Amino acid sequence: MVHTHPRAQPPRSPVSAGQRNGEFKNLVNGEWIESKTGACFDNINPADTSDVVGRFQASSAEDAHEAVRAASAAFETWKRTPISARARILHHAAEYLEDHASRFAEELTREQGKSLNLSKDEFLRSAQTLRFYAVEGQSLTGETFPNDDPDMTVYTQREPLGVVSIITPWNFPVSIPARKIAPALITGNTVVFKPSSDAPLSGYRLAEALVEAGLPKGVLNFITGSAADVGAAITEPAVIRAVSFTGSTAAGEHIHRSVAFTTRTQMELGGKNPLIVMEDADLDKAVDLAIKGGLSLAGQACTGTSRVLVMASIKAEFTAKLVTKVKALKIGAGLTSGMDMGPLATAKQLETVKRYIEYGKREATLLCGGEHLSGGIYDRGYYVSPAIFADVTQEMRIAREEIFGPVIAIIEVSGYADAISKANDTEYGLSAAIVTSNPRYINDFAQDIQSGTVKINRTTTGNLINAPFGGLKQSSTSTFRESGRTGLEFYTQTKTVYRGC
Ligand code: NAP
Repeated sequence: MVHTHPRAQPPRSPVSAGQRNGEFKNLVNGEWIESKTGACFDNINPADTSDVVGRFQASSAEDAHEAVRAASAAFETWKRTPISARARILHHAAEYLEDHASRFAEELTREQGKSLNLSKDEFLRSAQTLRFYAVEGQSLTGETFPNDDPDMTVYTQREPLGVVSIITPWNFPVSIPARKIAPALITGNTVVFKPSSDAPLSGYRLAEALVEAGLPKGVLNFITGSAADVGAAITEPAVIRAVSFTGSTAAGEHIHRSVAFTTRTQMELGGKNPLIVMEDADLDKAVDLAIKGGLSLAGQACTGTSRVLVMASIKAEFTAKLVTKVKALKIGAGLTSGMDMGPLATAKQLETVKRYIEYGKREATLLCGGEHLSGGIYDRGYYVSPAIFADVTQEMRIAREEIFGPVIAIIEVSGYADAISKANDTEYGLSAAIVTSNPRYINDFAQDIQSGTVKINRTTTGNLINAPFGGLKQSSTSTFRESGRTGLEFYTQTKTVYRGC
């Protein structure tokens, strides 16, 4: 006798159709496909360069044009898809990310270098972002305008823009894409998404989550490849109605200048973020804020603390405490528990950080760190010890230029006015913090500092999902903020309707 069993449902698996033998495909028009170039590039683990995390499509402009065409073709239907159906897809994608957060976190750590805990938090935060926009996007409204004609109603209505391009960096390879893609989709836009070539896998997982959640074909298109090969094709055609970009100021400025006249941009760019330590500060707290803000993610956060402006009267004590704590930090792979700082994310990052450490040694006084670490596990990855420089003055390169690494410059200041003047003496304006309990300083700081994010007794890093985020000066374009309810505005345009009977 033959026993038959109903075929068990396969478990929901993170092995998607776009992934085979370590090779990950593009997603174009709902199909996981290879690039027409037939070439791939490697995604390398910065903690162990012998570990190839995955191979990704080295796409060409032709692949990118196809992705733009697919997004364009999908727009009219997606725009008309009921908003509750769009929201349901975001909720399901969030669930998928949550279900697989542990495994995806390990991949994120392997491709980027941050600790496993931070990677898991990033996936869970991304899921939360999808859920936030699933709800918030459903209550985006227009306005009505009183007028003298009893037979007329005047109101604004919002509508999606069309095809939007989303281009993201490697330091938050899933949470930055999530905070752009979710508001774009819930408002009815279709998307071409290009992740960083240095950490494309976490972005791939986000695309996979949306496909698994039932996103119709062409609504999200995911392509990998170098900026040189696909950049212009996903930013310059006029059919692209908006570009949301996070990355370096140089690349952001280039894209902002090269898009069509009718293309909207949102540029989240570099920073040179100050932490001011006033004479009344709790010094242990100030030291912790400097370390957390400056060295977590190995200094590779756009809002990371890179300048610490300290009152002359407490400088010696603050500096001694900071150096003692920094010397005790444990540096190692993100997959190893108990490490305080991981490797730099790429070989290019390593070279840049080493170059700035050399500038610093010539310009200022190196108090500790700044070594390219070697021996044991260090030989396998891009490790440097965190560098603290003292006697830094305003004109020095380490005080002016974004380093994006574990390098803290200590600048002496003589009083509040001097601190504000030096803190503002930069082309950037992303995040700034002050440590004080003086209500006068607290009140004035929020007004005086030229920065899009202002922190009082908190680190320069970190921002809420539900609050606006963005910089001033060359840290952003003066267009639209990201995150929170404001993040929806970038992806919609307004019509004013005059309705008579
Ligand atoms: P990046 O070199 O500017 O690259 C960012 C992304 O843009 C990558 O996907 C890159 O592709 C792409 N890209 C570069 N040039 C392009 C072009 N001309 N056209 C289209 N795409 C282009 O920056 P990164 O090294 O990845 O990230 C570090 C920078 O990001 C730092 O300056 C940091 O401050 C900034 N950042 C800012 C924020 C913020 O919210 N303000 C947040 C995080 C990071 P490839 O990878 O293929 O080169």
